[in-house]
Amino acid sequence: MTRLLLLGGTIEARELAQDLRKCRGLELFYSLAGRTQKAVHVDGNVRRGGFGGVAGLERFLRESNIDLLLDATHPHAAEISKNAAEAAQRCNISRAQLHREAWTARPGDTWREFDSLKEMAADLPAKARVFVSVGSQGLEDFAMRQDVFFLVRSIESPNFSDGSDFKRHFPSGELLLERGPFELEGERALLQKWKIELLASKNSGGDATRAKIDAARELHIPVWMLASPPPVPGTRVKNVSEAFDWVTGQLR
Ligand code: NAP
Repeated sequence: MTRLLLLGGTIEARELAQDLRKCRGLELFYSLAGRTQKAVHVDGNVRRGGFGGVAGLERFLRESNIDLLLDATHPHAAEISKNAAEAAQRCNISRAQLHREAWTARPGDTWREFDSLKEMAADLPAKARVFVSVGSQGLEDFAMRQDVFFLVRSIESPNFSDGSDFKRHFPSGELLLERGPFELEGERALLQKWKIELLASKNSGGDATRAKIDAARELHIPVWMLASPPPVPGTRVKNVSEAFDWVTGQLR
């Protein structure tokens, strides 16, 4: 029996977990950071919460006799990917990273790329109407700009470091609690309804949240993009099917 640790938190990881459960000779351990209260249900052997850095992950890999590690975390989850690479190396087990292709600008797109949300927020034009779709972390950087209207979308209410709520940081802002995938029609209507002038996004790649980018292009709305961190060195797969093949190719 081969024992696989699948690091999740993405649509791809959920799909993969479902597919891999049908594999004979494979025991799957599925791991989530545990930040999302409304996490989508996943069957089977699921653990929630951090491991405690590289040392904690190394301990888990050894104590659970893990043979393979597949890192299917979000491309912007750089810390866990770095830890996974290091811990797998220490334990001498095979590891691959499922790292989606980043989005690239298409004709008609007006993009500006940033290395941090702080820089992005600081540069926003005064009094702009901005749709912020960067998840629930890092929003404090935008709250510095009280002159800007923010429509913020995230899966659940953001946790601010001072424990306060959205309206305290964004008195004139609006919060939408929604989980993707999103369709082009809905995204277009959303941007129009709120008279959005600029879209602030992470470059997350993949199809589930791409529609907002396509809608922005149609409506000639500029997109300010937080650049995706590079994948960690080592084996990389780009989608669920390649990830499935990598795992099954390693079965004893
Ligand atoms: P991160 O900054 O790379 O990781 C921070 C810490 O969270 C890690 O050091 C680890 O704690 C723990 N952690 C992260 N992913 C984990 C997992 N799958 N299983 C167990 N522990 C995990 O990660 P993040 O950006 O906060 O993302 C957290 C989770 O949300 C990930 O599962 C990611 O796939 C998902 N997600 C992130 C984004 C994003 O934009 N960053 C978007 C959508 C989904 P220890 O050091 O204690 O082990």
